[in-house]
Amino acid sequence: MRRLLIAGNWKMNKDIHETATLINELKERLKDFKNQVDITLCPPFPSLVVAKSLIKDSALKLGAQNMSQHDDGAYTGEVSATMLSSIGCEYVILGHSERRQHFKETDEIVNAKVKKALKSGLTPIVCIGETLEEREAGITDRIITTQIKDVLHELSSSDVEKIIIAYEPVWAIGTGRNATPDQANQVHRLIRKLVGQHYSWRVAEKLIIQYGGSVNPQNAYALLSQPEIDGALVGGASLSSDSFTRIIQAAVEAK
Ligand code: PEP
Repeated sequence: MRRLLIAGNWKMNKDIHETATLINELKERLKDFKNQVDITLCPPFPSLVVAKSLIKDSALKLGAQNMSQHDDGAYTGEVSATMLSSIGCEYVILGHSERRQHFKETDEIVNAKVKKALKSGLTPIVCIGETLEEREAGITDRIITTQIKDVLHELSSSDVEKIIIAYEPVWAIGTGRNATPDQANQVHRLIRKLVGQHYSWRVAEKLIIQYGGSVNPQNAYALLSQPEIDGALVGGASLSSDSFTRIIQAAVEAK
């Protein structure tokens, strides 16, 4: 049985004071949930250390939103995998569509980052998804197949057992327009099938595949009760303790 993972991607929001307020509110609101689903918060880099100390003694976990594919050296402005694991980060979001769009990240770069993250003991949340043009052209399956092959290039079965895939249709991110539960479930089934073919059914069955794209308290239950959907990567709705808690509540009820 796969455990649901709800992750909050705060993007470039919340300074250190707002980080403390949101985490303190979440700790209060989530204290009755008793570890029924996994929850991870992904604040911006400057808030990670403070966030780590605020979540101690709670079930909340910490993730980063990005990292470099390099180990160290002359890469001004970058943050390495070892830096993240040294401050107690457990997860890192890689290949988010905003990184692909604004910072020209390719599947090849994402693949290099996944390898570095695993080497440092981080759990990568690897984002893939088609654009609106690709969906309308009827090539979603082809795009997902290529992305899975490329982001998992040269990874072993034991590597793939340690990663999480987030299916995030680009047209659904931050737009208020989510994939229907059935649309999302179909793509998740395809991802699991591809992983089963490349690796094994045992690896595929264990793989956590999150859905991301305008998840909110109103649509979370319908999405999360789909058999192939193992959690959510939540952007906008993770910025308020009320809406994020209601999504977690929906996750608990859905499984
Ligand atoms: C995201 O940032 O990964 C995301 C899915 O954003 P939103 O929930 O705002 O669409």
